[in-house]
Amino acid sequence: MSDPILIVGAGIGGLNAALALATRGHRVTVLERAAEITEVGAGLQLSPNACHCLRQIGVLESVAARATAPDAIHVRSGHSGATITRLPLSPYLEDLYGAPYLVSHRADLQRALHEACEAHERIEIRLGHAFAGRETGSNGRVLARFETAEGQTTLETPLLIGADGVWSAVRKTIPGAAQATFTGRTAYRATLPAELVPADEMRDTGLWLGSEAHLVHYPLEAGRSFNLVALIREDWQEETWSAPVARDTFLKTFTRWAPSARRLLDQPETWLKWALCGVDALAGPWGTGGENGQTLLLGDAAHGMLPFAAQGAAMAIEDGAVLADLVTRLGPSDTRLLAAYKTLRKERVAKVQATARSNGEIYHLSGPMALARDTVMRVAGGRNLLRRQDWIYRWQPPAV
Ligand SMILES: Cc1cc2nc3c(=O)[nH]c(=O)nc-3n(C[C@H](O)[C@H](O)[C@H](O)COP(=O)(O)OP(=O)(O)OC[C@H]3O[C@@H](n4cnc5c(N)ncnc54)[C@H](O)[C@@H]3O)c2cc1C
Repeated sequence: MSDPILIVGAGIGGLNAALALATRGHRVTVLERAAEITEVGAGLQLSPNACHCLRQIGVLESVAARATAPDAIHVRSGHSGATITRLPLSPYLEDLYGAPYLVSHRADLQRALHEACEAHERIEIRLGHAFAGRETGSNGRVLARFETAEGQTTLETPLLIGADGVWSAVRKTIPGAAQATFTGRTAYRATLPAELVPADEMRDTGLWLGSEAHLVHYPLEAGRSFNLVALIREDWQEETWSAPVARDTFLKTFTRWAPSARRLLDQPETWLKWALCGVDALAGPWGTGGENGQTLLLGDAAHGMLPFAAQGAAMAIEDGAVLADLVTRLGPSDTRLLAAYKTLRKERVAKVQATARSNGEIYHLSGPMALARDTVMRVAGGRNLLRRQDWIYRWQPPAV
């Protein structure tokens, strides 16, 4: 039997890719640095393009059981509290695209993917394995080295996939690879029990637009909790997902916000923050092939992006479906793999990255520019605004 395909990282991208490959008959070993899969993070949005992929690998039902399908995105002015517009989500998008728009706790999505991987006979997950480097093996195969509690171990594979996140160690071994850069924005997150949140806020995704800051919130865990993420311009740089926050200093940013928004922001006792980093999708090669064996990147490792189009997890999920299809059609050691993968993914992902950057600029406008933005959004209306995302949502994975 041939050696399994190796995936570095048991995050959303890595576990999803393992299932996409195993569904198509490949054996996969996933190697994760953490000693256990812990419940870190907060909410992620799963648009129809991502949900089609999750359905294909058999996890949509279990993800949906722990997720929520908000009625709409309720866009409000952070300063006046006035409604700007409402973008219909559920069931409108499912009727349109054949898959739902869900919001899920990152831990719930990861748990559903993890459970499906554990149950799959062609997938093995090895925790406590930190990728430490790679060399060329015999016949153009890759020798990947991992640090474990017992020392170093080396594994041979026809295909090494780096799904190890925005600060990817696999990416650093690829000649000419792009670097992760801090974007000058910071995300603050908190969760609340549903009982502490007004009932009408539990139905929608809330989007409040303010000068140099915006606030997003939505229900999580099938309506049992409430996720708040505030995104502000701040030049703070640290490689962590969960830095502690000085609550009072953070809340000062929102002193001039409407009482209705402040009531939500004031509730959580504890906020955590992470610095938003990006990897330019067009800058790096996304992998290396030929004589050196095949090493490819997916998800944040290839193209970490600002969350302002809510597509970070979705793009990682799409990558896995496309890559699994190519590996099946070409074979895991075919040197055309990298070129075919880039052709199918780079342009789309770069366009999503540009949309996220542009949304960030628009959301954080102030003064007359903000008033003009609000008027344009009101006049356009929710359905027309959603139509601008049609090219993102209508995407579907290649058939199995
Ligand atoms: C702990 C954590 C919390 C997060 N919280 C949020 C959040 O609240 N909201 C949000 O929008 N996004 C969050 N994200 C990011 C979000 O999950 C990703 O943007 C998106 O899902 C793409 O996923 P990915 O699989 O490419 O990367 P990630 O989800 O970052 O997964 C990368 C995986 O690789 C593992 N890894 C890293 N280095 C190595 C190594 N050297 N060897 C082996 N394994 C390695 C990591 O432990 C992780 O499990 C979080 C990510 C992490 C890791």
